[in-house]
Amino acid sequence: MQTQPNQSVSDVTYVREEPKLNGLHCPECGAELMDTTPNTTYTSHPAQMKIKCSNCVYEGWRFI
Ligand SMILES: [Zn+2]
Repeated sequence: MQTQPNQSVSDVTYVREEPKLNGLHCPECGAELMDTTPNTTYTSHPAQMKIKCSNCVYEGWRFI
């Protein structure tokens, strides 16, 4: 019986956090804001989520 090369090595899927539109509007330009880490909840009090603008360079935090 021959040893098979491990073909799954190049097949690893890494779960990335994709920025997700959150329906809020940028205070700078009015474009829609995105949650930059939709899968991560910061455990501060109150809990916050990092957000950024989909159009300009605005970044900030929102309460969840
Ligand atoms: Zn903006």
